[in-house]
Amino acid sequence: MSEPSTSAGNGHDAAAPAEALLERARLTFDLDVDICVIGAGLAGLTVALEAARLGASVAVLEGRHIGWNASGHQLGTVMPGYGLPIGDLIARIGFEDTRELWALSKEGAEYVRATASEELIPGIALSEGALEVSNVDVGDQLISRLQMLGEDFETEVEGWQVERVRDQLKTDHYFHGVYYPKAFQIDGRKYVHGLAALARRAGARIFEDTPVVGIDSSGIRKRIVTPSARLRASHIVLAGNIHLGAPLRRLSETLLPVWRYAAVTAPLGERLAEAITFRGSVADSDGIDHFRIVEGDRLMWASPETTWAARPERFAGAIQRRIRTIFPRLGRVEIAEVWGGAVGQTVHGMPQIGQLRRGLWVTSGFGRQGLNTSAMAGQLIARSILWGDERWRLFSPFELVWAGGLTGRVAGHAIGMWGRGSSAAAGALARYRERARTQERIRQARLAEANRQAGTKPSQQRPLPGHPRPERPRPPEPGKSGEGEGA
Ligand SMILES: Cc1cc2nc3c(=O)[nH]c(=O)nc-3n(C[C@H](O)[C@H](O)[C@H](O)COP(=O)(O)OP(=O)(O)OC[C@H]3O[C@@H](n4cnc5c(N)ncnc54)[C@H](O)[C@@H]3O)c2cc1C
Repeated sequence: MSEPSTSAGNGHDAAAPAEALLERARLTFDLDVDICVIGAGLAGLTVALEAARLGASVAVLEGRHIGWNASGHQLGTVMPGYGLPIGDLIARIGFEDTRELWALSKEGAEYVRATASEELIPGIALSEGALEVSNVDVGDQLISRLQMLGEDFETEVEGWQVERVRDQLKTDHYFHGVYYPKAFQIDGRKYVHGLAALARRAGARIFEDTPVVGIDSSGIRKRIVTPSARLRASHIVLAGNIHLGAPLRRLSETLLPVWRYAAVTAPLGERLAEAITFRGSVADSDGIDHFRIVEGDRLMWASPETTWAARPERFAGAIQRRIRTIFPRLGRVEIAEVWGGAVGQTVHGMPQIGQLRRGLWVTSGFGRQGLNTSAMAGQLIARSILWGDERWRLFSPFELVWAGGLTGRVAGHAIGMWGRGSSAAAGALARYRERARTQERIRQARLAEANRQAGTKPSQQRPLPGHPRPERPRPPEPGKSGEGEGA
């Protein structure tokens, strides 16, 4: 727990409900429970809520406070699926198992929808629809993906042509889009505190400022050590993400920590409505940008990443420039607040869900898509402990693989930068091709018109002797595209 936090935005935790602040309590006495959950993020709180609902006695131990890291700093977009693309998943575990995993991920999203109701979490501000846009012109690939999602994976999707995407998002950076009408977004900070309130109401006890410094998971009754108290439990659930530290350092080392930064702009008034009419979440298919409109005329935007902890304020300028690159017509926007959080990325891209040894469970490694996946994991683990549901075994092919310690972080950053750089270059090339096609169409139309007036037939594509083809614009060199922070 000694790692510096990059999660604190300007006054960000002021968003925690007053009730949560009042109830903040350290564990100062010894305790005996059925289930001890380590970590009060989305993952730990969902297990706690579900296990308490099923009648177990549950204690959650949180080293700092509820939602301190990524869980209290996410953008609230809830989609089906995982961080790993569906094609890669099929290649790894086959079609049938992928279908089952996909169905579980949809159940996770439905769990969030059911929990994030106005009655259960007031002010949660649920709104519908998410759009995944492509940085490159790959309409044909899109059709096969839509067919697979719709027919084989029973997921409601719509394919959007370039014109429709650009009608809603006034930028030439994006091409085709996949619209998920059943995806939705919520107020992410309210959700994590809402989960905590519901878990308490169901009977779970949550202790903050209570880091777990050691565990002994060998016996039937496990021991958990904190600086000021000891616990005994039949089950321990490790939900500490990258910060788990001392209790199971080798587990933390199977995650590559990636800090992601986000910001919200000052109110932008009419100019925002002129640039963006789409009201749901937008993410590009390369995972670079993720944004949506909040509070009517502010833009919430997540983009830069590092593999080391840095102060979020440092990235205000980068986010401001990124917004301007994608939506030049917005001009310079004022950033009102910046924040960041660390997500745990596994080597295979899938979350870690399951039983490590009898009574020792892990729910972690949710990467950038933690809302539906941690909800699904929470249900699976609680039901396995209390009902013997064995579906978590579908995640067994995704073993705990060492993420490479410091070397892994440096390599991870280099790979991330390469990915961003190459996708910016691919985007620039796609836009170049589009411009060239438009110019070619205009040229052909002029030629046809000239031929019509002269009463001659168009001279196919071949240039006349002595008349070289008209000069085309040169494709930009990848390094000079000037697109995005990765270029
Ligand atoms: C900027 C940003 C935007 C995002 N947007 C989205 C989005 O729109 N949709 C989506 O699905 N996902 C999103 N994510 C990803 C999502 O936030 C994460 O996947 C998810 O929050 C991970 O939850 P977690 O509970 O595993 O981890 P965490 O939130 O890190 O929680 C772990 C908790 O465990 C505690 N802990 C660790 N070790 C110990 C210990 N030894 N003792 C006691 N406590 C301990 C920590 O203090 C921490 O509070 C986003 C992430 C970021 C950073």
